[in-house]
Amino acid sequence: MTHFPKTDRNRLRRLPERALYDHQTIHAILDAALICHVAFVQDGRPFVIPTLHARDGDRLLLHGASSSRLIRHLQAGHEACIAITILDGIVLARSVFEHSINYRSAVLFAHGQPIHDEANKRHALQLFTEKLLPGRWQDARQPTADELKATGVVAMSIESATAKVRSGPPEDPAEDLHLPVWAGVLPLHLSYGQPQAAPDLAADLPLPDYLRQWMDRPGS
Ligand SMILES: Cc1cc2nc3c(=O)[nH]c(=O)nc-3n(C[C@H](O)[C@H](O)[C@H](O)COP(=O)(O)OP(=O)(O)OC[C@H]3O[C@@H](n4cnc5c(N)ncnc54)[C@H](O)[C@@H]3O)c2cc1C
Repeated sequence: MTHFPKTDRNRLRRLPERALYDHQTIHAILDAALICHVAFVQDGRPFVIPTLHARDGDRLLLHGASSSRLIRHLQAGHEACIAITILDGIVLARSVFEHSINYRSAVLFAHGQPIHDEANKRHALQLFTEKLLPGRWQDARQPTADELKATGVVAMSIESATAKVRSGPPEDPAEDLHLPVWAGVLPLHLSYGQPQAAPDLAADLPLPDYLRQWMDRPGS
């Protein structure tokens, strides 16, 4: 299966021409975003929690303190709705009405499955670490048994998903095109600053190659 089925729950009604349901697009959005927002209902009340994520095939992995309310709730098998948003630009139209934003977003529905065994937990932590900075897992000290115990991991099997993508210039109606108002797109992207060494770092430790290469790669 290469597409998530369109159902009553995930079928985009508003501007459906911006909807995409294929795994490739949705996975690419998950991989490009550093964080997601996880929404769930507990004791009849809604909560939304921002958190890091990593993808393992068709599953989205979340982690946190073993005692975290979010992690415990999802490990118990409850359902969540997860939103991922990447901002690509502010769309400045001639009219206030047509102002918009260029973005890639995804909304997923999934139930949690706990990951308790040490090998799978370790694998999940490797995916998280490598997502933050490729090359980091091998360099940093590996988790101890106690650290693994203190970390809760949950796999969210993606059951349903939709991507919504807006790109391109403003869509002013023809009658506004003559207006003397600047129109266009102000691109937005997340960028890296200069690495700042920890104040207690040994003075003779150079910047690792994988960090330099990550920062120097095209588009960063
Ligand atoms: C950064 C950003 C800013 C936005 N700003 C606005 C705004 O100011 N005003 C506004 O009206 N809308 C905005 N949107 C679009 C908004 O996310 C909704 O798509 C839109 O409001 C329609 O909501 P709805 O509940 O009527 O969607 P429906 O079409 O009824 O949604 C049906 C299903 O489609 C899926 N879906 C809906 N929206 C999205 C999405 N964005 N990404 C992936 N799947 C989705 C969900 O599964 C949902 O259950 C913004 C989107 C982004 C990413």
